[in-house]
Amino acid sequence: MKADLLDTAVLDRVPGWAGQVRQVEPLGGGITNRNFRVTVGDSIFVVRIPASTGDLLGIDRRVEHEASRLAAIAGVGPEVIAFIEPEGALVTRFIAGQPVTDAAVHEPAMLDRIAHALRRIHQCGEVSAGFSPFRVVEAYALTATRHGGRLPAAHERAQAVATAIERAVRPEPPVLCHNDLLNANFIDDGATIRIVDWEYAGMGDRYVGLSRGDVGGPPDRHLGARLRLWRIRHQAFRAVACGCQGSPLQRLDESGLGVTLPERARVVIIGGGVGGTSIAYHLVRRGWRDVVLVERAQLTSGSTFHSAGLVGQLRSTMPLTRLMMDSVALYSRLKDETGIDVGWRPVGSLRLASSRERMEELERQAGWGMSFGLPLELVGADEARRRFPLMVTDGVLGAAFLPSDGYLDPSGLALALAEGARRGGARIHEGVRVTALAISRVGVRQVVTDQGAIEAEVVVNAGGIYAPEIAAMAGLSVPIIPMAHQYLLARIPEPIPDDLPTMRDPDLLVYFRRDANGLVMGGYERNPAPWGLSGIAPDFNNRLLPEDWPRFEPLSQNAVSRVPALEHGQVLKLINGPEAFTPDNEFLLGESAVRGFYLAAGFCAHGIAGAGGMGRAMADWIIDGEPGLDLWKMDLRRFGSQYRSQTYTLARTTEVYSTYYDIHYPNEEREAGRPLRLSPTYARLKELGACFGEKSGWERPNWFSTNAVEPDGQRPTGWAAQHWSPAIASEHRATRERAGLFDETSFAKIEIRGPGALGFLQRLCDNDIDQPVGRITYTQMLNQRGGIECDFTVTRVDEDSFFIVTGTAFGNHDLAWMRRHQPTDGSVLIEDVTSSRACLGIWGPRVRDIVQPLTETNLSTAG
Ligand SMILES: Cc1cc2nc3c(=O)[nH]c(=O)nc-3n(C[C@H](O)[C@H](O)[C@H](O)COP(=O)(O)OP(=O)(O)OC[C@H]3O[C@@H](n4cnc5c(N)ncnc54)[C@H](O)[C@@H]3O)c2cc1C
Repeated sequence: MKADLLDTAVLDRVPGWAGQVRQVEPLGGGITNRNFRVTVGDSIFVVRIPASTGDLLGIDRRVEHEASRLAAIAGVGPEVIAFIEPEGALVTRFIAGQPVTDAAVHEPAMLDRIAHALRRIHQCGEVSAGFSPFRVVEAYALTATRHGGRLPAAHERAQAVATAIERAVRPEPPVLCHNDLLNANFIDDGATIRIVDWEYAGMGDRYVGLSRGDVGGPPDRHLGARLRLWRIRHQAFRAVACGCQGSPLQRLDESGLGVTLPERARVVIIGGGVGGTSIAYHLVRRGWRDVVLVERAQLTSGSTFHSAGLVGQLRSTMPLTRLMMDSVALYSRLKDETGIDVGWRPVGSLRLASSRERMEELERQAGWGMSFGLPLELVGADEARRRFPLMVTDGVLGAAFLPSDGYLDPSGLALALAEGARRGGARIHEGVRVTALAISRVGVRQVVTDQGAIEAEVVVNAGGIYAPEIAAMAGLSVPIIPMAHQYLLARIPEPIPDDLPTMRDPDLLVYFRRDANGLVMGGYERNPAPWGLSGIAPDFNNRLLPEDWPRFEPLSQNAVSRVPALEHGQVLKLINGPEAFTPDNEFLLGESAVRGFYLAAGFCAHGIAGAGGMGRAMADWIIDGEPGLDLWKMDLRRFGSQYRSQTYTLARTTEVYSTYYDIHYPNEEREAGRPLRLSPTYARLKELGACFGEKSGWERPNWFSTNAVEPDGQRPTGWAAQHWSPAIASEHRATRERAGLFDETSFAKIEIRGPGALGFLQRLCDNDIDQPVGRITYTQMLNQRGGIECDFTVTRVDEDSFFIVTGTAFGNHDLAWMRRHQPTDGSVLIEDVTSSRACLGIWGPRVRDIVQPLTETNLSTAG
């Protein structure tokens, strides 16, 4: 033990170390510190003792400590064990790994891994000090002069250039920067590039923070140089565009690293989160090479970077589950395919049941799971605890375990998908903001950005919480509400098994997963917090919302009751980030009313789990005109015009979010935003005891309480007893034996008029609708595969005029299908007249007796 080099008084003040230190060895390097490798018990640590020169260099050891802690939380820096004052000594855990050599640092895959680590740092939080290289150089010059030093001859000229650069460069939101990115400070632990030595860290410009990154290699190939030159060129163009000609920066443009957008592309994808990158990846896999993705800031700088990264597969229908299963299949091979580690950990998932009702839900899910090909098994409370030893089983009746679920690193996923897309020929441009869309009568035509315009056949809006803003550029409204969603990162005193499955406890509204430094715990609050309703700031990228502890408190109490170790845990951070939610908690996918303009957004905190399958389905949709599986539940056409009202959309989305973990029985009715659309008979039906349900915003009687006669047989129990009334049987019997009057005002009604109307409908319908005026024809409209797209009746009102009545929930879909095929020469007019017509229908064997006295028309079969 070479205690002579390291003051034992420092070691003894590290909590738990007094008298325990086994070995101390000096480590090489370090101008501003002396570093020691210290062995305590079986663990190895690094102790950094500041050198006295640090003060002259403006190093603040407390800031170094703050930054080191944040870097550790981000999984990039080593774990911080202690900070000993007044010496400012920092104790961290030793990271076993390989140095990143000068040669290795130039490899593209290594550059991506370093970029990935840096991105995590930029997103991990704030320290109390800023760092500006401009100010640092000024301060060093002053210090040197004060100490009798001489400044180099080139200093004055360099200072002038620095001043010009500082003026021309637009300020970026400050992020945590390391500011000393020598490759000697990188350690490759096999999974992540870890970064040590945070003494120069501070809040600053992420690009300028890379400026030491070109040490050790030719600048044109190096990460720091590449990114820095990109930014400088980008900003220089801006300066020139602003009329600041003569800027010294103009010359930098020749370095060839700026944004040069193509004039045209087959597909332009807007948004560089997991959504956009997955679509780009899958388009190139299907052979479409002419794909451009534009991102207004950096890849993964939207909701993607602050995701908790859980990947669960079981959903309510087979096609939705298939989407998630496709994701899992993709995530397990992406690293081999792209060289970028997405951190995929297939540890399995547990879903607990703490009530009989919940157990019944799990049993049903296990049945669905099996029919979907998912190996979901039901386990008892003890087995659940064996798999997740941190939990107590109080109240737990059982659990469902799905071994193929897991979690991953969301930013890594987006970067890997982007890399795969690039390798397949896609071009990805960061720092390019879409400002407008040009639409012609035929459809989308051009994407206008702050760097120029791109002609495009297909445009995909993958803008996450910003998707409504992008849709508005095409005159469309999309029902997305950004919600502040939170999870906690905590370190706990108990050891956490490496293969700890993810765990959801829906009765307590919380979920858990392991993280490099502890546990992640999040959930769905009963009091959700919508955010950004009057617009989102143009610079809201790489940013989180302030921690909202009062709102999170009930969830954390629930979490402690299930995982008691959390009570004595150390909170590392409460992540609060906005995510795009929809009024029914399903994705928004498909082609919009503007031909060629697609939407893929509103992932409702399942975007990471769904990105892989979603990207594949969207690529199929774009290339083949359909997604290849029944995605009606995610089809954006499922939402009618009532969702143009933000108040209504907000009410629905808030209700759906707050009841996310509840058991959702079939035929469940939502309450928020009701009543919205009323038939003229509404008041009368209410008077008659109608119990209303809602469809596409319309209030419709589900049954009349006055008809509820207790059944002769037993009432159903459990699952089947929900949303059930004995009135249903009475009303059914009355209609079958006598007659029943139905208000069908909610049915969607569409008028088709014009000289081309007959030809248009004859082409789309599979039945012959060229019938005499007054005749009603039941027909379908078929897609290319012969599958049914629309199913309705067509009444011939006149030679050139037809009236279509279709299902309440299908109006929007059927309108979109017809408008997609509508001739562009103006010969056919299509109009939604649903709200202007009421409709009553009467059925049953006694109908003629009831209606005949009301009309002079002979209603007999003979007449
Ligand atoms: C706290 C939290 C926890 C979560 N946990 C999970 C989880 O455990 N599992 C899971 O599956 N999902 C989770 N999610 C959800 C998941 O993170 C998102 O669904 C997903 O990241 C959304 O990806 P996206 O590509 O749609 O959006 P984003 O990542 O937001 O990407 C959209 C991009 O579009 C860009 N853009 C916007 N406007 C323009 C423009 N005009 N021009 C150019 N570019 C533009 C933005 O800059 C942005 O980068 C969580 C979300 C949050 C907030």
